[in-house]
Amino acid sequence: MTEVREAFSFSHRSILELSPSRARALAEAMRAMPAANLSLAAKQALNAIPVDHVRLGTKGGLPFEFLATDLYAGCLPLKSLCYGNCSQGLLALEQGFDFGVRRLNHFDPELVASDIQQLSIDQRWIRQGWNSDVSFSDEGWNRAAMLAELLHQHGRHLLIITKVFKDPPASAMQRLQRCNSEIRVSISALDSHVALTRRLHFLHAYRLAASHGVV
Ligand code: SF4
Repeated sequence: MTEVREAFSFSHRSILELSPSRARALAEAMRAMPAANLSLAAKQALNAIPVDHVRLGTKGGLPFEFLATDLYAGCLPLKSLCYGNCSQGLLALEQGFDFGVRRLNHFDPELVASDIQQLSIDQRWIRQGWNSDVSFSDEGWNRAAMLAELLHQHGRHLLIITKVFKDPPASAMQRLQRCNSEIRVSISALDSHVALTRRLHFLHAYRLAASHGVV
């Protein structure tokens, strides 16, 4: 596994320094990388990541006060990991989990509200999106809007980090905007034209509505 990690490791700075031809060569190489993971995965029986309750902050069992449990357990299959290089996907493989089995975690509004009330007074925002992404379905976006509203009721804000695999329903978009949720859209020089267009289009639409959208 160490060899796989080393083969996949590169810094954002080194990507920015690449010429277009070298960036294309890197993209080709990275497309081939998942094969190494797949052969590793084939050697062991992988389990689905257990479905859990969405919790917030250290009182909710998260390692940092600013974190919330991802709305989804699981994310993408190894062959589709973002840019072939997702540390969370490789970690899941190391731990014997199939990162590609994606299921919604339980969302109990009362439990979430209780966790919000126990956040430290100076923690004004909560991050959603560190082991998965809210944008895989309408329901993912709807739950993100629900989380934003609960936080807003308690004077906190939601920060979403996403690759916008799917646009939100209009109603979820409006609810997120009303709560001043900040949405950070991850893009890369390795994005396909279709993915990059979708991500920038979403970001533009969100910013037009006078909310916070950050690339
Ligand atoms: S969406 Fe995030 S967690 Fe999922 S594979 Fe991509 S980088 Fe990893």
